[in-house]
Amino acid sequence: MNRDIDHVLVSQQQLQDKISELGAQISRDYDGHELLLVSILKGSVVFMTDLMRAISIPCAIDFMVVSSYGGSNTTTTGLVKIVKDLDQDLTGKDVLIVEDILDTGVTLSHLMPMLRMRNPSSVKICSILSKPSRRKADIEPDYKGFDVPDEFVVGYGLDYDEKYRNLPYVGVLKPEIYTKA
Ligand code: 5GP
Repeated sequence: MNRDIDHVLVSQQQLQDKISELGAQISRDYDGHELLLVSILKGSVVFMTDLMRAISIPCAIDFMVVSSYGGSNTTTTGLVKIVKDLDQDLTGKDVLIVEDILDTGVTLSHLMPMLRMRNPSSVKICSILSKPSRRKADIEPDYKGFDVPDEFVVGYGLDYDEKYRNLPYVGVLKPEIYTKA
């Protein structure tokens, strides 16, 4: 295990098993639909590449970068700006937003109406992690991997200061890593 990690919350095996389940469920639910997976960079990139390979029906992918103003490294304020927009037209498509973690839900509660204005058939959320105790917006993932406690997590795409994204599991950092910064 990485020496900066205090403990593992979700193991590589647990992630793999859950993603197989999610992929199978999404493949059943969207069979016959024009599915577009939308990954919100950068945190969801690892989940996206695993999830798309667990989906057995035809699907397209696209990527978006959003930023929220005014937050610190570990919080968001809710003012969302699209930094890199989607390449594809959403008209008539069934959009599934692929997220790393639904925390306060503020980012997606601002982004969803923006995407709905582009006339997709549907917009839903698939998030590998969720912190229900932190929720501020009235929003829940339609497909969810794991609930995690109110701790700052890294790994499986999630970073602290651009590090730890490549860890194959989800873990909690040792407190001294924060206090050093
Ligand atoms: P929300 O708007 O739901 O509060 O948070 C959105 C974003 O904040 C997530 O997509 C993620 O990038 C970041 N975030 C929230 N909680 C955590 C966490 O525990 N660890 C990391 N690395 N990022 C987080």
